[in-house]
Amino acid sequence: MRPIQATVSLSALAHNLAVAKRHAPQSKMMAVVKANGYGHGLLNVAAGLSAADGFAVLNLSEAIDLREAGYDQVILLLEGAFSLQELKIASSYGVDVVTHSMPQLEMLEKSQLLRPIHIYLKMNSGMNRLGFQPHAYEAAYQRAQACKNVRGITFMTHFATADEEVGVASALDVFNQTTADMTGKSSLANSAAILRHPQTHVDWVRPGIMLYGSTPVSSTPAAEYDLKPAMQFTSEIIAIQEINAGESVGYGNRFIATKPTRVGVVACGYADGYPRHAPNGTPISVAGKLTNTMGRVSMDMLFADLTDIPEANIGTPVELWGNQVPVDAVAEKAGTVGYELLCAVAPRVPMRVVD
Ligand SMILES: *Cc1c(COP(=O)(O)O)cnc(C)c1O
Repeated sequence: MRPIQATVSLSALAHNLAVAKRHAPQSKMMAVVKANGYGHGLLNVAAGLSAADGFAVLNLSEAIDLREAGYDQVILLLEGAFSLQELKIASSYGVDVVTHSMPQLEMLEKSQLLRPIHIYLKMNSGMNRLGFQPHAYEAAYQRAQACKNVRGITFMTHFATADEEVGVASALDVFNQTTADMTGKSSLANSAAILRHPQTHVDWVRPGIMLYGSTPVSSTPAAEYDLKPAMQFTSEIIAIQEINAGESVGYGNRFIATKPTRVGVVACGYADGYPRHAPNGTPISVAGKLTNTMGRVSMDMLFADLTDIPEANIGTPVELWGNQVPVDAVAEKAGTVGYELLCAVAPRVPMRVVD
């Protein structure tokens, strides 16, 4: 079997959840496990995050998977229900729904639910993605409150710039002013807001990326927040080439040696989820030592510079990201964020769970 593997650490997940709790001790934890648990496997991460008060997912099928695996916490559909049928099934599984638009509100009014459902009424506080405009929020709230299918309402918004210099002050003002005369619980903070904006913590927080040990704030490494990588993405050297100055490596000759160079071929490529845009010099670890990638990433393989790692040979372990190479360091080189790399780990990569 090809030696590539992603190893998911349950103790790292639990540790990172405890870090979120340390920052927001008064708040309930809604662990965001969308996108197959940010690429770690939905049920894998649920096991590591079982101390969470709730789970947030995108698809009804994920909510059902969690319920059928025995999780009886709050489960929230982050984009709500997409049809009357879904709404009915959600209510039968005791799954909560975001309600972010007029059609979703009308669906609640039209449906015949056996069990009324708890909703998260979403406000668009400036991100302009999902949610009722602040001026329309009160009316939506009144309608939801009058709806026999609604058994409770949590106020919710999402910040566009919790990770940026400008912060969340104006969105938070809009939210607080709009909900000032309404009574109910609220949920506002993503990972960046949990780590940077304590005034947003309120009743429920929604940590995502931080649980996986990647930073939500590009200027601050995850380790500075005491976050541990939940995924170690590893493989091995499967071939070695010795090249001279002037010789090149890989498609398009994108790396040309300026001195005698020992090139390691690693069994990992973009079809495994490694970013094709990672340039020469992206950090990679071989035999526990940091070195650089070289040449263009191909579908199934990439190249690592072994010139200063004479002990490396065919079969030597490689870490693409994990404990020695932060996923955020690879992401930065490739012009993206840890979120995208973690979510992109391909289904063909075998996943192993460790304590
Ligand atoms: C994905 C998501 C989160 C989690 O965001 P992170 O930046 O990963 O912490 C929180 N809330 C909503 C609505 C989301 O879609």
